[in-house]
Amino acid sequence: MRVDLHTHSHRSDGTDSPAALVRAAAAAGLDVVALTDHDAADGWGAAQRAAGESGVGFVPGIEVSCSLDDGTVHLLAYGVDPAHPGLATELGRVLQGRARRLPGVVRRLRGLGIEITEADVRAVSGEAVAPGRPHVADALIGAGVVGDRREAFVRFLMPGRPAYVPRYGAPLREMLALVAAAGGVAVVAHPWSRGSRRVLSPGALAELARLGLTGVEVWHRDQSERDSRELSALARDLGQVQTGGSDYHGLGKVDHDLGCRTTPPDQLERLLAAMDSAAQQARASDPSVRPAGADLR
Ligand code: AMP
Ligand code: ZN
Ligand code: FE
Ligand code: FE
Repeated sequence: MRVDLHTHSHRSDGTDSPAALVRAAAAAGLDVVALTDHDAADGWGAAQRAAGESGVGFVPGIEVSCSLDDGTVHLLAYGVDPAHPGLATELGRVLQGRARRLPGVVRRLRGLGIEITEADVRAVSGEAVAPGRPHVADALIGAGVVGDRREAFVRFLMPGRPAYVPRYGAPLREMLALVAAAGGVAVVAHPWSRGSRRVLSPGALAELARLGLTGVEVWHRDQSERDSRELSALARDLGQVQTGGSDYHGLGKVDHDLGCRTTPPDQLERLLAAMDSAAQQARASDPSVRPAGADLR
């Protein structure tokens, strides 16, 4: 059984529609796929319908942009009720932070003599709920300034580069509580990839586990085999579920093909059990919560 728990559609910064992504997952031989767009659940409905038609299991997720002690951490929230007021408010803040950052990024690029406008970025971010740096990259590709997204990040958009502008991230400790209140479970995404390695020491991961973290994304393309071995041992010691996923972005990210990293079936079982009990607990304290739940067949 092949399980990919980390993918992005064009509702955030991927290039496939949610339905096309799920059909591609089926064609790639995956048995279960999660859609985990950045800060949004807008693709879930279409993805779940396509999963039903393709005979693929579906797990609803959101990759939430968080902050921890001045660093950036991505948190995969599975099975939450996206309409939960506290969670929805905080996701709204993150999306607003993305929109607010855009003018500054464009101003900096124009300051470098690059004739690009906010409208150019919005034109390429068409279906996305909010613009991200990858959409700025796409606009730069369209203007003939760079050849691909990676080049745009390396030359302009990464921290330390001339068009980098930071944005709001949800405070991670508070987000863990919101995910639980919204009936879902939280898995820390690519803890030892570029952005988060400095922030997520073994001690920090242990603290997050005490605060209710359910899992650690052990297998991810941006983590070496050695990182994964160390993370796996650490996660085991902390009693965490161990997940893996491709972080597929369609044509937006090379070397992140669907299923290039996967979650072992026994770990999927643990995650699903944790989702069930999180949903029950949240409903027990607030009967109006509607956790999303996985749809496996
Ligand atoms: P943002 O969320 O708008 O700050 O942009 C971050 C997103 O950009 C990440 O989630 C990745 O999808 C993408 N990204 C980050 N670094 C790179 C890179 N070097 N090449 C391509 N995409 C990247
Ligand atoms: Zn992304
Ligand atoms: Fe991420
Ligand atoms: Fe991602």
